[in-house]
Amino acid sequence: MTEELTFEDLDLSPEVLDSLKKMGVKRPTTVQQKAIPLMMDNMSVIAKAPTGTGKTFAFGIPILEYLNLDAKFVQALILCPTRELALQITTELKSLGKYIQGFRIASLIGGQSMNVQKEKLAKKPQVIVATPGRLLDMVTRKMVDISQIYTLVLDEADEMLKMGFINDIRRVMALTPKDKQIALFSATMPREIQDITWQFMGDAAEIDVMPKAQDHPDIDQYIVSCPEKDKLESIMKILSKEELRKVIVFCNTKMEASKVCAKLASKGLKAEVLHGDIGQGTRNRTMDAYRKDKFDILVATDVVARGIDVDDIEAVFNYDIPKENELYLHRIGRTARAGRSGRAFSLVAYLDKPRMEEIMRYTKVDPKPYEL
Ligand code: ADP
Ligand code: MG
Repeated sequence: MTEELTFEDLDLSPEVLDSLKKMGVKRPTTVQQKAIPLMMDNMSVIAKAPTGTGKTFAFGIPILEYLNLDAKFVQALILCPTRELALQITTELKSLGKYIQGFRIASLIGGQSMNVQKEKLAKKPQVIVATPGRLLDMVTRKMVDISQIYTLVLDEADEMLKMGFINDIRRVMALTPKDKQIALFSATMPREIQDITWQFMGDAAEIDVMPKAQDHPDIDQYIVSCPEKDKLESIMKILSKEELRKVIVFCNTKMEASKVCAKLASKGLKAEVLHGDIGQGTRNRTMDAYRKDKFDILVATDVVARGIDVDDIEAVFNYDIPKENELYLHRIGRTARAGRSGRAFSLVAYLDKPRMEEIMRYTKVDPKPYEL
């Protein structure tokens, strides 16, 4: 479904194409295909992608393509959670930029003497890779100036959060230009990361590297065959038979979602709806209430699906069969999080059958028939 781009399609400089070739890197990975064109257009991006999918080049290539090599100030700042990672990123980007005349990169990490770091800075690097604590320490001592950067990368944002760097990240946001490009990469999107994106990255493009079917071994998937008009009743039967409480019901349209939510509520179930026309403030409050178990059933459209990062969702219902194949995996991935198992029920009416079969072929999932 995603068209396959080559590095040549991405309009890269001969220097970068050359070093990629020398490194044996042939085709861009999915996150690279998605992030590079956006970042080359100076867009901010929020990218959710599992580890090992090539995120370093995803942000590294656009940064290197846009450096002002004659200028002597810091133009790109890459923050990551650990020293090891900082060194690894520095090494990779050094290789990537080895044919670019005048390209200078330095790492600033804890555990290295201030003198060593002073020497690095004396060479006037345009790119700095750092752990947040050490970076801020050096900014405070006026050893490094980050007030003019074009691009800020937050790599492994969820790990930085786990290590307690969230306030450091907020400080870096405040110390850098308001109109900078931000690229945030994270394997997961916990609440605190979403807060950051909502606060500082309102215009960012979102990239979600879709999960694969084999990444979901813990989700029992079922097909519930029933006439369109009985779908709601079928969901209610399953909820009671399987003793399910906290679930998500996905619909394809805002109107359908509102209707389904109202019907569930009229049957005495605690349901709330989320879709793209609902303002961010209300969305935040609804998600917050859902996390805190204030209601049981979240009825949602795909637009808001990626923001739904709740650990204890017991099951996902596809009231409507998704219009795009990958969305199926995306939806069912809302359950079975944080090591739990989960269930996914797709309500398939007669007219939904071809669509469901297409999804099964494409995603290689094999849901079992469910006997009501
Ligand atoms: P992530 O940050 O997503 O965990 P990395 O950027 O560290 O992943 O990349 C993982 C490995 O894959 C690295 O060794 C990197 O050199 C390699 N790699 C990156 N992009 C490609 C590509 N397009 N093709 C082949 N290998 C790649
Ligand atoms: Mg990485």
